[in-house]
Amino acid sequence: MADITLEGVGHSYDGGRTHALNPMTWTWSDGRAYALLGPSGCGKTTLLNIISGLITPSQGRVLLGGRDVTGLPPVARNIAQVFQFPVLYEEMSVYDNLAFPLRNRKYPKAEVDERVRKVARLLGLEEHLRRRSRRLDPGRQQIVSLGRGLVRSEVAAVLLDEPLTVIGPALKWTLRSKLKEIHRDTGHTLIYVTHDQTEALTFADEVVVLKDGAIVQSGEPAELFLSPAHEFVGHFIGSPGMNVLDAAVERGIVRVGSALVGRAVGDDGALPDGPVRLGVRPEFVRISPFPRSPGLRAGVTGVDRMGSYHLVHARAAGGDLVAKTDPGEHGTAEHLHFERAYLFRDQIRCGTLAALEGS
Ligand code: ATP
Repeated sequence: MADITLEGVGHSYDGGRTHALNPMTWTWSDGRAYALLGPSGCGKTTLLNIISGLITPSQGRVLLGGRDVTGLPPVARNIAQVFQFPVLYEEMSVYDNLAFPLRNRKYPKAEVDERVRKVARLLGLEEHLRRRSRRLDPGRQQIVSLGRGLVRSEVAAVLLDEPLTVIGPALKWTLRSKLKEIHRDTGHTLIYVTHDQTEALTFADEVVVLKDGAIVQSGEPAELFLSPAHEFVGHFIGSPGMNVLDAAVERGIVRVGSALVGRAVGDDGALPDGPVRLGVRPEFVRISPFPRSPGLRAGVTGVDRMGSYHLVHARAAGGDLVAKTDPGEHGTAEHLHFERAYLFRDQIRCGTLAALEGS
């Protein structure tokens, strides 16, 4: 097993003046494909570089398969890393670039050839193998870089830092599914850094969400979508993200303004009375011309016609919100009810909304 474990790992730059990562303890399990997702500046690259050894953390230990590698340079860690932009020997052919990491580690000649051709086939590079790398366009050069990161069989992990940034959107879809295929074949631990939720959700077995230098939630893509543990996860994952309304719990009932919207079910027992934030994804807002109890009256302020669905913008007590509906499911003054909603206090989820008895 080559689990990667971070024990109390934290980091700041400039002698402590620029904070990057809070101390964290975390294990990346052997063979799993992770996406490390978060907005710009949240510490993704710092975390990746600590794992690969490009940065020594200000505090804590990095363990690889139980062995302390904190003080070891990248070359001694047996971890491959792919960056945002191509890192290639421009004068070498594509074949030699792909073969380089293997020859460097004394792979037998036949295995070098076999592995290079396999990666080239999977990444659509076969017809370019004899070309000099500098003659390729930047997108293709980046695919070669990706191939160099994926070509070795014996690495403990492959770290990918926004590797598809320079690739056009159509090819991105293809490459993501190729990456999945390569991952299934090699069984490497993959950690894929991105700030793009689509990339994270389509690629990963497990998505780790980072915010302001701390991991706020991790889980399978569906879990993050259906059960956000933090308001930030609700906003950041989903398109558009989760709506949030000001609400209150009174004797177990959730009110938005004067409207009853459901029963409060605390994640850890009964929820004390007081203000809460009600989070509801656009997909779980039902909109109808007829009053319904429990529900909320709202005025429609605009409709975006997206082709296969509509985004209906509405104003209600507690705030503005968006509903994702089938085309035609809206008017001007509407009634909303929520199929699935969450309650948050201090941004952390504390409960869910349930139907009222008898409704
Ligand atoms: P992005 O998606 O923009 O690459 P990120 O999530 O990868 O961002 P990091 O690059 O790890 O975030 O940066 C985390 C914090 O550390 C930011 O505040 C950044 O400005 C700071 N930082 C990163 N590298 C350095 C450095 N070499 N010197 C000083 N501060 C740095």
